[in-house]
Amino acid sequence: MEIFAEKFGDIKILRYEIPGFEELSLHKKLYLYYLSKATQAGRDILWDQHGKYNLLLRNVLEAIYKENKNNKSEEFKYFTEYLKKVWFAGGPHHHYSTRKFIPEFSKENFKLWCDKLNEHSFSTKQLELVERIIFDNDFLSIRVNTNPKDDIIVTSANNFYDNITEKEVIDYYDKMKNNSNNKKLSFGINSQLIKQNDKIKEKTYKINGKYSDSLELICLNLEHAKLYVENEKQTELLNYLIDFYRTGDLQTYDDFFIKWVDEQEGEIDFINGFIETYGDPLGIKATWEGVVELTDKVETKKAKTIADNANWFEDNAPVDKKFKKGEIKGVTAKAVNVVMLGGDCYPASPLGINLPNAEWIRETYGSKSVTLINIANAHHKDSQNSGFLEEFAFSTEEIELERKYATEADNLHTHLHECIGHGSGKLMPGVSGTDLKNYASVIEETRADLYGLYFMSDKKMLDLNLLSSLDAAKAHYNRYIRNGLLTQITRIKLGDNIEQAHMRNRQLIAKWAYELGKGEVITQHIKNGNFFYSVNDYEKLRNIFGQQLAEIQRIKSEGDFEKAKYLIETYGVKIDKEIHTNVLSRFKKLDIPPFTGFLNPNMKLKIVDNEIVDVSIDYDTDYLTQMMSK
Ligand code: ZN
Repeated sequence: MEIFAEKFGDIKILRYEIPGFEELSLHKKLYLYYLSKATQAGRDILWDQHGKYNLLLRNVLEAIYKENKNNKSEEFKYFTEYLKKVWFAGGPHHHYSTRKFIPEFSKENFKLWCDKLNEHSFSTKQLELVERIIFDNDFLSIRVNTNPKDDIIVTSANNFYDNITEKEVIDYYDKMKNNSNNKKLSFGINSQLIKQNDKIKEKTYKINGKYSDSLELICLNLEHAKLYVENEKQTELLNYLIDFYRTGDLQTYDDFFIKWVDEQEGEIDFINGFIETYGDPLGIKATWEGVVELTDKVETKKAKTIADNANWFEDNAPVDKKFKKGEIKGVTAKAVNVVMLGGDCYPASPLGINLPNAEWIRETYGSKSVTLINIANAHHKDSQNSGFLEEFAFSTEEIELERKYATEADNLHTHLHECIGHGSGKLMPGVSGTDLKNYASVIEETRADLYGLYFMSDKKMLDLNLLSSLDAAKAHYNRYIRNGLLTQITRIKLGDNIEQAHMRNRQLIAKWAYELGKGEVITQHIKNGNFFYSVNDYEKLRNIFGQQLAEIQRIKSEGDFEKAKYLIETYGVKIDKEIHTNVLSRFKKLDIPPFTGFLNPNMKLKIVDNEIVDVSIDYDTDYLTQMMSK
């Protein structure tokens, strides 16, 4: 199988392989098949959540593409590239920066292509609207605006809210929470909040409610999946999920996740629901996503070692005792291979997943944590020999360490981030997970990364056979600093701030560590006008990570909004212009897309004499074909 599929704009598309699929029983293959169908069925939900007119935009662009696909002109090439970007982002806003794409084709040509469309397909008004979306940069200019100076709801183009202010949203959900018997529910997570005729209305995502068609199709496939479960718990959790999609009831959603956390025996697992809240600047509403997973037995053994020792990590964490959980319950770690990606996980896939997000379920019932091995492997295989490392690493020693230990160290950091980082610590009484408001997700990711960084160079890693040498930790420290201060900003346009939560947390840690070490633990170098950083003392850097972890855990546990805001705004948001200019020019020469997406495999039922005899899988697809097939 060819891993690399194609590249366009700042994106490359890869394929991932599913080892072990052929050897599975037909029963398991069918369970995977129907879960996969349920994962693909929610695609349009995400598009609509990302923007009120995104589905219209997609339909118009695809219609133009079909009508002109033999057009070989330069202009149409730019149009096709624009369409590919829109597919990737689920709308006209870049998936990371959340700012609108600038089209490289002209408005005049766009109008000509529109004129050629069948007059019954779209109204003039619709086509004018789409034209405005594409060409008017001040219209719906950013999907997620987190700038505290603005009304972050009014100025964000996502479709979670309509005609309503930030204050009205906050008041609405404060009131809902105050009036509820169960204050732990994820209020507002599965709905759109709008104001009509001066009345605020919540439109719930459910069958016979908002997104009814997609949710019905998801449920139909989940019903099929129920026929092929591996155990009784899977039947129960599927029932809860179907019930949740039918009613939109938040208690049922929590019940589903409690069952989902409890189901540990099966070889097959999935995510399907309204999960991550990064797309809402207030962190209330969740985008729809789906992932189907098959256990990777070899890697799981490694991850399990960490989970089995979770209490050792909690005991030895450099944080105040009163913020520790004491006994860590049900921390599990699994390494899986992805079988199907959907919604907000497609085409851009996460590398690890830790759920549920509801803090109270995590504290009471534990959480499930997975590393996506085949996705990570595809990344690693593709990134070899790109010239990237040589350009930004300070020394040959740093390059050698990276070559030797990158995969090993990276996998361990992901394991530690997911199972120890997200799984430990506790909130003080009266503190809620949303007290940190728009800074909550950055603080949570910072915390998880710091757990990984701090423990990575502990000799316990050798005792537990998790690392072959502590040099691997050195390789990782080098890389983390290099990435946080230099290489990750290749993803940001000159003059823009960092918006994405994970990127903010990485720069926050690296820049703050640089300052805490007074430029001595980490040193900046300028060689031939190019910026570099080197780590001079790994032990001291580890202590700095420990110091940072203690403070971040305190902020989280006490809900210290002001300090969270200070740290993130000071270290995590702004980029030094001189360094940014330098990094971008070096990166441009390398011609490597900074973002990656994945193609799903094709899965087909093999039917003989009206009977399903097998589920076949192949990787024989390309980006255009996969995006156009519904
Ligand atoms: Zn995380």
